[in-house]
Amino acid sequence: MAGTAQGYSDDAMSGKHTTPVIPADETGIAEAAAVLAQGGLVVIPTETVYGLAARADSDAAVARIYEAKGRPSTNPLIVHVRDLSQARRFGAFSPKAEALAKKHWPGSLTLVVPQRGDSGLAQAVTAGLPSVAIRVPAHRVAQAVLAQLDFPLAAPSANRSGFISPTSPEHVLASLDGRIDMVLDGGATETGVESTILAVRDDGSIDELRTGPVDGFQRVDRSSVLERIEAPGQLASHYAPGKPVRLDAREAEHNEFLIGFGPVRGDVSLSSAGDLAEAAARLYDCLHLAAQADKSRIAVAPVPNEGLGRAINDRLLRAAAPVD
Ligand code: AMP
Ligand code: MG
Repeated sequence: MAGTAQGYSDDAMSGKHTTPVIPADETGIAEAAAVLAQGGLVVIPTETVYGLAARADSDAAVARIYEAKGRPSTNPLIVHVRDLSQARRFGAFSPKAEALAKKHWPGSLTLVVPQRGDSGLAQAVTAGLPSVAIRVPAHRVAQAVLAQLDFPLAAPSANRSGFISPTSPEHVLASLDGRIDMVLDGGATETGVESTILAVRDDGSIDELRTGPVDGFQRVDRSSVLERIEAPGQLASHYAPGKPVRLDAREAEHNEFLIGFGPVRGDVSLSSAGDLAEAAARLYDCLHLAAQADKSRIAVAPVPNEGLGRAINDRLLRAAAPVD
């Protein structure tokens, strides 16, 4: 892999690829459903990021997800279903969980609820936990695929474990080419950052386990972004571009590729208008461009820590955390 950023395959870098990329039309969706039914790995677009999908009721299919991503088996997967009534077959929904699902599904909210004893899910999906994470994606293509299936899909982000998440088929091929059966091409994803994850506890309390597009929940530990910047060693490295990342940068220093925002102009910009929704949608594309650029370091302009900015800063902090 000399000369390529960590996580990129040589073929993808040179523009050749071996995994078929199929347009997400009626034929492509039917083909994807058939490959999934046989236990295959299909990358599908969702409104957040591209997901590496396999049937969640098959031990063998789920094992292939972990293998393709190089994901530690202790890190559970999100189960994707078509609607709340299908979700109820796998999780126990308290009145609070029902209310959240009705308010936000389909959409970018994942709910962690107690797993039903008769869920029939592969044990590896939940990494052996008594709970299960469930989401109903809003994307037209994800919905169309799920509508053709009588089983749920486990679908983590379609990237090698720890590497930058994918918001386009090109990003997917950059790290998973040859390790998956097909990619359904639905163009660039709209939202661009992963779902908000909420755990709904038995006592009715809610813990935000991951910040995301659905906003308005506070993390229980309430640790501020600044406190976390001061203790970067405590952050799990994730979304790592394979180069050092410096945050809160107002201009590029020597050998830095600068990702701008608002008034800070860079080699690329998250959003020159300072729009947080645009910045979220462009975040991973900018990180992919920075990873492939001719500079050895990455700098990122400050992004306000409000609304979608919280999710963006959460991902940036992890991208900047040192790799263990
Ligand atoms: P990804 O699939 O890459 O978007 O990551 C899924 C996230 O969901 C990971 O951070 C998991 O730790 C989290 N997750 C999945 N299932 C559970 C669960 N049962 N309890 C808590 N967190 C979960
Ligand atoms: Mg991921």
